[in-house]
Amino acid sequence: MIPGSFDYHRPASVDEAVDLLAGNPGGALILAGGHSLIPMMKLRMAMPEQLIDIQDIDTLSSVSVSGPQIEIGAGVTQAELIASEDLAQHCPILRETSLQIADPQIRNVGTLGGNVANGDPGNDMPAIMQLLDATYELTGPDGSREVKARDFYEAAYFTARDETEMLTAIRFTAPPAGHGASYMKQKRKIGDYATAAAGVVLTMDGGTCTSASIGLTNVADTPLWAEDASNALIGTTLDDAAIAAAVAAARAITDPAADGRGPKEYRTHVAGIMVERAIKQAHSRAG
Ligand SMILES: Cc1cc2nc3c(=O)[nH]c(=O)nc-3n(C[C@H](O)[C@H](O)[C@H](O)COP(=O)(O)OP(=O)(O)OC[C@H]3O[C@@H](n4cnc5c(N)ncnc54)[C@H](O)[C@@H]3O)c2cc1C
Repeated sequence: MIPGSFDYHRPASVDEAVDLLAGNPGGALILAGGHSLIPMMKLRMAMPEQLIDIQDIDTLSSVSVSGPQIEIGAGVTQAELIASEDLAQHCPILRETSLQIADPQIRNVGTLGGNVANGDPGNDMPAIMQLLDATYELTGPDGSREVKARDFYEAAYFTARDETEMLTAIRFTAPPAGHGASYMKQKRKIGDYATAAAGVVLTMDGGTCTSASIGLTNVADTPLWAEDASNALIGTTLDDAAIAAAVAAARAITDPAADGRGPKEYRTHVAGIMVERAIKQAHSRAG
């Protein structure tokens, strides 16, 4: 398939990119790694008049770990997330999740910003950003504003980002030292999107769960932060009854589409299994 025609721009700064976006509201799109956008353009599901390639904007490519505060530029690739020892030490679920995205070729150019800005419920990073309670920095003609990942996703491919804004950074506080984390993803084959996936971060103190946060991928129109499921674990020893309550609460908020990955009931069932496995693995990793 051949995409529609467009003008190609390669700005060297965020200001320049935002000027281009604001100069053609709705007609201009950011091109990051292109691994979601180019296929959409080939199918003519996306037909930008202006394509703004952000790969030359150096300020989008840094990872900063300052105490527990983590800031990741929107242009950081999934391969760079995997390679970062700082991130692996402070927030290992990022490496574990990135390693389950697509394949090495795609991870070499696919960016964190593209993954979370895209709005595809199949993307793995949005649920992780929701469970970490991350904040997205959006920069537009009037400056920058912050939106919580938990408030960003409105429907499939619809987000709180205005069409004149670009995502510039992702920020969050790393979970405390000694936390346990796990991302469990069932997929049909390597490189596939999730049939259902669950991420869990939790802390334990003297055998009792003192904090827990659960995110779900590809089981609704948007990524899901499973608040009731998370709360079902806090104050428990993560015994079977607590895990069963969390699984039931997580399943209750899912609303997956029936597709080639299975009917709705199957994907809801798998979501619960992913939640159970992720809780147990996170528990086994908690110090
Ligand atoms: C075969 C295949 C398998 C895949 N499997 C998975 C998978 O299992 N899990 C998964 O999570 N992903 C998967 N992906 C998607 C891949 O991870 C993409 O790289 C990612 O979703 C988008 O990142 P990108 O940098 O390529 O963004 P692009 O494709 O360049 O952009 C995606 C969308 O986000 C917008 N955008 C990008 N950056 C910004 C920004 N800074 N500000 C505002 N808007 C922006 C673009 O305009 C576009 O609408 C797969 C892709 C392929 C081709």
